[in-house]
Amino acid sequence: MSKYIFVAGGAGYIGSHMILYLLEKGFEPIVYDNLSEGHREAVLGGIFIEGDLSDSEKLKSIFSSYQISTVMHFAASCYVGESVLNPRKYYKNNVFNTINLLNNMLDFNIDKFIFSSTCATYGNPLEIPITENHPQNPINPYGNTKLVIEKVLIDYSKAYNLKSISLRYFNAAGADFKARIGENHNPETHLIPNVIDAALGIKDNLKIFGNDYKTPDGTCIRDYIHVLDLAQAHFLAYKKLEEGYKTSFYNLGNGKGYSNKEIVNSVEKILGKKINFEYAPRREGDPPILIGSSEKAFKELGWKPEYYQIDKIVESAINWQIKLRGL
Ligand code: UDP
Repeated sequence: MSKYIFVAGGAGYIGSHMILYLLEKGFEPIVYDNLSEGHREAVLGGIFIEGDLSDSEKLKSIFSSYQISTVMHFAASCYVGESVLNPRKYYKNNVFNTINLLNNMLDFNIDKFIFSSTCATYGNPLEIPITENHPQNPINPYGNTKLVIEKVLIDYSKAYNLKSISLRYFNAAGADFKARIGENHNPETHLIPNVIDAALGIKDNLKIFGNDYKTPDGTCIRDYIHVLDLAQAHFLAYKKLEEGYKTSFYNLGNGKGYSNKEIVNSVEKILGKKINFEYAPRREGDPPILIGSSEKAFKELGWKPEYYQIDKIVESAINWQIKLRGL
């Protein structure tokens, strides 16, 4: 009998796409989520269990009831700005709860873990594209909490033989191409959904933060990666761990950057509408350019992003958002 994959945070944006990907591969994942940010209706299958990662009793009961081979961990707080204002929430959710999950895994000899890390662990880039060898000096509490866990994973790997793969995402974007699920945050702080809401007439005060950066059009540049390409990378990481692969870490990005203004242009082009926005002061903690090199994931995991064209990414986000807003 094949063992289960336990997906913490499987009702969230990236986690729910992972569940969809696993269902399409014929798996029946266990989805664990406290629904603080996630949505029950975004979980399109598998075994759903509502619970918090601080709840050891619940974790123990699941780990003793199901044979679990691998844990994928998407459950985290993920807003840079909020992490600066409320670091306590971030250390509780992202550090304390993750360590609790790991310690319960150790108690039940579950020895494979895939961790959602972030390019925010690098801080201000010294060179572009960013490779995995770039120094990790986060500039905000969110990045700090993710880096702490990467370090815990290295220590646990050496001491307890817990095998893990940390995946450092660049900017997750896009949605299921059938628009069944997608990004649904409240409040929404991310660029692409905010630009789409402005185009759809849902948002009337779109601001682009900063137009005085040292970039060709003065706005920040980000490396957008389709959420289903992230799911593909997790699946490949799962297979590598099953093959006995060692603890490691990988960037996940497309290696190509788009400016905030280019994102506005893309939405305008696809919807055939002019979008009203204004330039506002820079947002604190925003590095001007984040572009990742994912050569290591290409070579070692065999990862090959399928939906790398920005218009394709944006179009999938638009189709989802039209449905989400009931238009
Ligand atoms: N951004 C913006 N207006 C918005 C939301 C975001 O100008 O309403 C900018 C933000 O300052 C950054 C880029 O868009 O330069 C990407 O931000 P996002 O929050 O989407 O992702 P992050 O890079 O912070 O993970």
